[in-house]
Amino acid sequence: MRPKEIQLIGEELAVKWETGEESYVPLRELRRACPCAVCSGEPDLLGMKRRPPRGALPPEAFRIERIETVGGYVLRPIWKDGHDLGIYTFELIRALGERFAGGGGSGP
Ligand SMILES: [Zn+2]
Repeated sequence: MRPKEIQLIGEELAVKWETGEESYVPLRELRRACPCAVCSGEPDLLGMKRRPPRGALPPEAFRIERIETVGGYVLRPIWKDGHDLGIYTFELIRALGERFAGGGGSGP
């Protein structure tokens, strides 16, 4: 599963897959799902779990400056607040797209 086209449309990341399917992920949710150590709260060197103040992120934290594809199998968004540690696999993008499809609300 690879993306054929990656676009930013308004407040969403739109990915068209080579199968013709499309995924739309709200940027806010994309940022909240950031898998990097800082955002996911992995223990630091002292074994302390740091909880990022997610509610306190500035609006720029939910806007994307640009997106890089790395190694042909992951996406790396560069956020406008300068954060660029998150590496999103295509599977994650797809899963997020499914989770938030149709405005969400009535999940399983
Ligand atoms: Zn992060």
